[in-house]
Amino acid sequence: MSRHATIIGAGVAGLTAAIHLRAHGWRVAVHEREPNLSVNGTALTLWPAAMAALDTLGLGERARALGVTAVRGEYLRADGSRIAPVDLAAIERKTGEPLRFVSRPALLGLLTEALPSDVLHLGSAVSARDLPAAEVLIGADGLRSTVRSTLFGARFRARYTGSTVWRGSADRATTAMTETWSEGCLFGTTPQDGGRTNWYASAPALETDRCPDGEPAALRARFGGWHDGIRAVLDELDEGSVLRHGLYTLAPPLPSYVRGNAVLLGDAAHAMSPTLGRGGCEALIDGVTLAGELLGRARIADALAAYDARRRGPTQRLARAAGLVARMAEVRRHTAPRDTALKLAMRLSPAG
Ligand SMILES: Cc1cc2nc3c(=O)[nH]c(=O)nc-3n(C[C@H](O)[C@H](O)[C@H](O)COP(=O)(O)OP(=O)(O)OC[C@H]3O[C@@H](n4cnc5c(N)ncnc54)[C@H](O)[C@@H]3O)c2cc1C
Repeated sequence: MSRHATIIGAGVAGLTAAIHLRAHGWRVAVHEREPNLSVNGTALTLWPAAMAALDTLGLGERARALGVTAVRGEYLRADGSRIAPVDLAAIERKTGEPLRFVSRPALLGLLTEALPSDVLHLGSAVSARDLPAAEVLIGADGLRSTVRSTLFGARFRARYTGSTVWRGSADRATTAMTETWSEGCLFGTTPQDGGRTNWYASAPALETDRCPDGEPAALRARFGGWHDGIRAVLDELDEGSVLRHGLYTLAPPLPSYVRGNAVLLGDAAHAMSPTLGRGGCEALIDGVTLAGELLGRARIADALAAYDARRRGPTQRLARAAGLVARMAEVRRHTAPRDTALKLAMRLSPAG
């Protein structure tokens, strides 16, 4: 008889696990609380290891075709002077694959199309009281995971980092990936498909702060005096695409990603700061790794233990590194030594 997994959450983590398990004969049911899959959202940076995970699903080539690449990467100061280059060519030399920027809705669409419609139960929110009984219960329900709080308690939860994020797109082509840092705020740009620019920005703020004049006005007030590249993006803002939300990470780190026959992956397991552009990539890798272990081992308990052993260390180390970079970006005084440290880190990193 075929084996069965119940998956909570149809983000990249849950869909990846579902596709890989189902392709090898498992019965899967994915419960997603939203009635429709998101058509909004900006670009995700996909690192080479995430592309390898998509290759495992047989979707790598289609994902590559959806993505665009950058020819240049750099960290800048608000006046446009360079703090440090990001050696994109080094990433490609090392891995055989460039960084790719893929629209989040397009990636979710690609993953969803790989599943028959009867697998996906949209508008099916799972609550702590009615977690489904399953041979394996996969909690892929994101930052505010119900599965996580049910298994591990409210101590492990999404905590506000003290920063707010804006993101969106601009009607302007770019071939560069840039991040500009100044006194606690940052503004990033990447290429986007369709000849557009994907941008994101963050600044310290109270959790509930919103701009009464609208978020495009808040962005222009805060970043309008920065260098020409940012002003050009702000001039061509697609105002309807501007999203604003608080930035949260999971804290403290979980002691395990497994409890009994239940397992956590993606942001449910390790929601991290977006500074390294890795949370979605790790969610894809989690999905493929977990499914691979379940396919390769006779006992579910052994497979879940192997998944925990392979994924918890690396993802929690990445979450710590992403938090460290966020704290560097948040420095408001003594930015010169901070910039020197960033330059050094870029020389030593895989991108340097
Ligand atoms: C500003 C910003 C920029 C980022 N940029 C990048 C980047 O460039 N590259 C990158 O790799 N990562 C990036 N990330 C991180 C990335 O977005 C996340 O790590 C990734 O989306 C996590 O995927 P997931 O499937 O674990 O969770 P999610 O995408 O959050 O999916 C969880 C799903 O579960 C559903 N759900 C929740 N609760 C329930 C419930 N009770 N019942 C049923 N369904 C439920 C939700 O509706 C959702 O569809 C960024 C994050 C932010 C905030």
